[in-house]
Amino acid sequence: MADENVLEAVAVVRAVLGEGAIWNAPLQRLHWIDIDGQSVFTYDPATGENRAIDVGRMVGTVVPRARGGLMLAVHEGFASLDLESGRMELLPPPPGHDPALVRFNDGKCDPSGRFWAGTMALTKGPRPLGRLYRLDADGAMQVMLRDVGTSNGLAWSLDRRTLYFIDTALRRVDAFDYDDATGAIASRRTVISIPADMGRPDGSTIDAEGMLWVAMYEGWAVTQWNPRTGGLLQTIRLPVARVTSCAFGGPELDTLYLTSARHYLSAEQLAAQPLAGCLFRVKPGARGVPAFAYQG
Ligand code: CA
Repeated sequence: MADENVLEAVAVVRAVLGEGAIWNAPLQRLHWIDIDGQSVFTYDPATGENRAIDVGRMVGTVVPRARGGLMLAVHEGFASLDLESGRMELLPPPPGHDPALVRFNDGKCDPSGRFWAGTMALTKGPRPLGRLYRLDADGAMQVMLRDVGTSNGLAWSLDRRTLYFIDTALRRVDAFDYDDATGAIASRRTVISIPADMGRPDGSTIDAEGMLWVAMYEGWAVTQWNPRTGGLLQTIRLPVARVTSCAFGGPELDTLYLTSARHYLSAEQLAAQPLAGCLFRVKPGARGVPAFAYQG
C-alpha cells in the first residue's frame, strides 16, 4: 500500500480539546477548534500552515458561511467570525440558554443551510441540561430537543430525509425523520448502539455511500457504521484515546481528518499518548460529501 494510506499526525498543535473538524471546499482548508483552548484553527494542507484565531471563550463548533467567513457556536450562543480580521460577533442569546449552567458543543449545517448546534452541562449533574438548537438563515432560533446529555455527531442522510444525532451519554446514534423544506424533525429512533468497550460516540460524518463515521472518545479509534443495519463496517485505530471528531477533506474528499483531546489525561497517560490533542489524517478508502454552509 502507498504511504499516504498510513495514518499521520498533520498539525503539530496539541489541542486541549481538539474538535469540530470540517472541510471548507471553496478555500480547500480544514477548520477545527480547541474548545478549552478557545481557538479556531484553519489548516492549509498545501502549505502545512495551521492558523489560530483566539476567540476568548469556549468554542463548541465551527461551520463555513456561504457569504464568506465562518459561523461558530461558542459558550454563550451563536456567533459569526471574520477570517481576515479574526473579529467575532455574538448573535442574540438563544432562547432558554443559560451560560452559567451549559455551553455550546458540536454542531453542523443542514442541507438547506440552517445551523444546528447543541449544548451540554458545564458540570455533571443528575439531570441532562443540554438542548439542540437550530439557527435559521433569517436569524430565528428554535429549540429542537430538550433533556440532552452531551449533544454531538450531527449528520444528514444523502436523500436529505434523515437526521442522525448522537447524545454521547446514551452511547448510541439516533435518527429522526427530517423535513428539508421546514427543518422539522420527528420520530426519534435508535439506529446504532455502541458497545461499552468501544468507548463513547462523539463527532460524526457521512460518506458518499451513506455510511456513518463516528469518532470514538476513549475508544482509540474512528469507526464506520451502516445506519440502515446498525452494523459496524470498519475500525481505524489511532495512537490517542480521545478521538473527538472526523471530516472528509482534500480535493477528492478522500482524506479523513480526525481531531483528538488531551484534557483530563494524567502525566502517565500523556506519556503513553504523546500525540493526544493532534489533528490526524488517513485515507480510509471512502469519500465524503461536501459540508453544508450557513446560508444566513
Ligand atoms: Ca464533540
